[in-house]
Amino acid sequence: MTPQDAQVQLAAQQEQNQEQNDEKSLDKQIEAAKKALDKAKKQTDHAKNRLDNTTSEHEKAKKNKAAAQDRLAKAQRQLSQAETELARAEERVSEHSAAGFSFDGMVNSILAFLGSDVTNSMQQNVDAKRDVAAQAQNAVAQAERDVTKTQQALNNAQKAHEQAVSQQDQAQSELDKLNEQKAQEEQAVGGGAAPAASPSGVVKPAEGTFTSGYGPRWGSTHYGIDIANAIGTPIYSVMPGTVISSGPASGFGLWVRVQHDNGLITVYGHINESLVSVGQRVEAGQQIATMGNRGQSTGPHLHFEVHENGVKIDPLPWLESHGITL
Ligand SMILES: [Zn+2]
Repeated sequence: MTPQDAQVQLAAQQEQNQEQNDEKSLDKQIEAAKKALDKAKKQTDHAKNRLDNTTSEHEKAKKNKAAAQDRLAKAQRQLSQAETELARAEERVSEHSAAGFSFDGMVNSILAFLGSDVTNSMQQNVDAKRDVAAQAQNAVAQAERDVTKTQQALNNAQKAHEQAVSQQDQAQSELDKLNEQKAQEEQAVGGGAAPAASPSGVVKPAEGTFTSGYGPRWGSTHYGIDIANAIGTPIYSVMPGTVISSGPASGFGLWVRVQHDNGLITVYGHINESLVSVGQRVEAGQQIATMGNRGQSTGPHLHFEVHENGVKIDPLPWLESHGITL
């Protein structure tokens, strides 16, 4: 490895570390956003309880007020009835008194005396009824104050509840945003759902039609296999490894080469676009490129090679021995 290569690899490693740190800090942010949402939910529940309580207290106060008003109306009716009776009785007594001293004067005087006794007791009745009505009036005033007070508490509880709900919405949308961000980053890194690996951990390099095998072809040797599919079809690293080439390559248009941990090198040619850079660590099934039609190619396809100890071996039996069939 030349010093330049080492530098490139180091830079790539640092970039990858940075990405992992970013990912970690995004995970931390998501964790924090979840906690904030839980807290906001609890506050909303609490505010809802308070709202329910103040609502029922307010309803109770309104019922109390209605009952107090009924009692007041009844007391006022009874007072007015007593006042009417008193007025009538006083009228009768004064009629008798007005008769003056006739030959029936004595009788009238006795009646007047008795009458005043009666009206006195009626006056007491009126006074008592007036007291009851005044008390009922006070009770209504008290009930009205309670209604006002509970109305205020209810207004406050409503405001607090609205605030809690809006905070919860905010916390939820913050979490949604972070989750979306994470999904996008994962999409960017992995190009969507990674294909399933065989039990040996090897992944098919691309979906498509097997169009050409390893061996003599057109008067030379075809050192790989061809898998045809639409331009843009994802191309995956078959095993974990490190990218050792990414870019233009003679005959292949653009290529990616991956050095695997077991020493094998795999080659992905005619690609439309590389998604990786030299020195980058890739996983089995990680998308590294898209299928293209660059270089000496007769249609969109992946040209796939496997190099073992510097020898380009037939990829088909190698894939099959690792549980991958085309
Ligand atoms: Zn080929």
